[in-house]
Amino acid sequence: MLIGSDSGIIVEYKGRRVALDPKHDVRADLVFVSHAHTDHMHRASSIGKVLTSKETLRIAEARGFRYPNASHEPDPSLEMIDSGHVLGSKTLLIDDRILYTGDICTRDRAFLKGARLPRCEILMIESTYGKKGFRFPSVEDIVHKANMLIADMYSRGLPVILMGYPFGKAQIITSLFRHWEPLYIYESVARMNSVYRELGVRLGDDHATIVRSKDIDSLKHGPWLMVAPKQSNNSLFVRMMKKHYNAVTVAFTGWALAYWHSRFHDYTLPLSDHCDFYELVQVVNSCKPNKIYTFHGFAEEFASYLRGMGYDAEAIGSKCSKCNILDYI
Ligand SMILES: [Zn+2]
Ligand SMILES: [Zn+2]
Repeated sequence: MLIGSDSGIIVEYKGRRVALDPKHDVRADLVFVSHAHTDHMHRASSIGKVLTSKETLRIAEARGFRYPNASHEPDPSLEMIDSGHVLGSKTLLIDDRILYTGDICTRDRAFLKGARLPRCEILMIESTYGKKGFRFPSVEDIVHKANMLIADMYSRGLPVILMGYPFGKAQIITSLFRHWEPLYIYESVARMNSVYRELGVRLGDDHATIVRSKDIDSLKHGPWLMVAPKQSNNSLFVRMMKKHYNAVTVAFTGWALAYWHSRFHDYTLPLSDHCDFYELVQVVNSCKPNKIYTFHGFAEEFASYLRGMGYDAEAIGSKCSKCNILDYI
């Protein structure tokens, strides 16, 4: 039996309740935390066991989320498999037949390997970019384009700020563009980079200078590269960086393909930590499930596309929203 709830998804099997990425404390025998992005974590009370990877546990702690009852004990009916989304991210295979993806990416990027998922009977799959048309170019193409752009700005004496979400994307960016000098890393990104280092991931940014908010008006003039958290050209930080240094902003996000996104930054490039639409379809085809639930982003659109392919698919939460129960036996 599978139950969908407001605070995530709860799966009941063999008399056990497993909560998947709940946003609040829930009544369950076990809570699974797929990765340390804030939309997948909750403030845990002292009751209930938590299953997560040791990397997620450490990153969560660095982000202010503690899971005192985290368990790494092997459980034969629960298998965590890399989801390729961020460091430590996992999918969960329950009872060898129910697969919950959390957030997934199947392409290799810098130090991260893309996910390889097993066959399953029931697939719960994220659908952030689950709409036809979201097709990301290869990582090599995006990196090449970014390097050309940076080289062009350097030749004009202009500094460049590369932006991404401070946990996950910013570490991929650091690793992919570490060869540029001088290299500045904004403090919130640097903090997370040092957690990655502690967890054994070498980002190659040892030569970088950490920039604290108080130093931003005392940087060098002339070209340099900075890795910073994603923020719009209207933010105080970017306005300062433009006023003082004429800095150019480049944001990395899958939403670069959405027309409404381009106005927030000088340039946007579609480097994503998620599958694009076509990769999501590939995941479904390789898992060969009998039943599919979609969640996140274009959940309705993706479920409807999959139904058109002959799959039994529905968006989680789209049914029985009052009782929050999706009956499945
Ligand atoms: Zn995520
Ligand atoms: Zn997510």
